[in-house]
Amino acid sequence: MKAKAIVKITVCIVMTVMLLALTACVNQQNNENDPGQSLIDPTDKKDDTIELFAMDTYMTIKAFGNHAQPALQEAATRIHELELLWSVTNPDSEIYALNHGDGSTIEVNPATAEALSFASIMADRTDGAFDFTVYPVLAAWGFTTGSYQIPAQAELDILLERVGHEKVLIEGERVTLPKDTQIDLGAVAKGYTADIVTAILKKDGITSALIDLGGNIQVIGFKPDGSKWRVGIKDVYGEGNVGVLEAADCAVVSSGGYERYFVGADGKTYWHIIDPSTGAPADSGLVSVTVIGKDGRFCDALSTALFVMGLQKAEKHWRSYGDFGMILMTRDNELYITEGLEEDFTLDKSRADMAVHILRKSD
Ligand code: ADP
Ligand code: MG
Repeated sequence: MKAKAIVKITVCIVMTVMLLALTACVNQQNNENDPGQSLIDPTDKKDDTIELFAMDTYMTIKAFGNHAQPALQEAATRIHELELLWSVTNPDSEIYALNHGDGSTIEVNPATAEALSFASIMADRTDGAFDFTVYPVLAAWGFTTGSYQIPAQAELDILLERVGHEKVLIEGERVTLPKDTQIDLGAVAKGYTADIVTAILKKDGITSALIDLGGNIQVIGFKPDGSKWRVGIKDVYGEGNVGVLEAADCAVVSSGGYERYFVGADGKTYWHIIDPSTGAPADSGLVSVTVIGKDGRFCDALSTALFVMGLQKAEKHWRSYGDFGMILMTRDNELYITEGLEEDFTLDKSRADMAVHILRKSD
């Protein structure tokens, strides 16, 4: 760790009480099943909202302005189309066809080709911490069926021979997987979809919208009253939020061990984000990672990768690339926030005693 400033954030009591009231209210409205962030949207301006269940999660898209309904309908249709293309379990999907293609080359939809190319780039960029070929390992742990088990390391070692993003050959829209390789866009699909929804809404002239795809948040512009959107960052150890981030025109995506997990007979918790270097659920010391950036696909892939990397590598990645912001929560109950975000982040009153470290480029 480089030197870092330890900042104590003091929260004005009156503001906090208001914030808590707001948080409670919105959580109740939309977010019972939302694993990532909860949304705080106190606007009373006219909006159109669409809610749907797709990609195994509840989605809410709220667009402001008149005549937003056709754009929302188009977005919903597109989401269902992408779900059909990318489902790992539906025999009619392209991912299923690739995974069961016995090594044959398959011509895929342009959206699938683009998503796979992007996933390859992110796998390279993160040195394989994000690796969309980890599916056979995920299945061995039972995360694909819910029949959880702890596989022996010898079994994982054999499965890991089938893992490696460089095994996937993408030539335009022609994709070839080796016989035993299986892919899964689970760590990037929602972010990717949020980008496509954003493009659809913007094309229809919408300048203010909030897209919540099961906790993958993407916002267009500002709220109609000109203020930033308020996104709650979920508290891993409690019911509420660890804090609230104010955001505009960006994606805010979290990955965490709290989203899907089981407790083994050994009493340990095992979650659905796999470290491709070991075949085991990532055990990096981080319990939650939030990435803030321009594109949903990028933030989604990166939040999964940084969760695997852990604090030190994540910090190094941020220093090398600098094209995103991040909020990391450690198992030791500390929060690390990259510079610039601290002005937009308010720690929840219930966490006022938490140590908050600001990561600065100059340190
Ligand atoms: P969520 O989709 O629950 O919000 P993530 O974006 O972090 O969370 O994606 C987790 C999913 O990604 C897992 O359910 C699995 O399908 C897949 N996955 C798990 N580990 C990795 C990894 N190291 N790289 C790429 N995908 C992964
Ligand atoms: Mg992800």
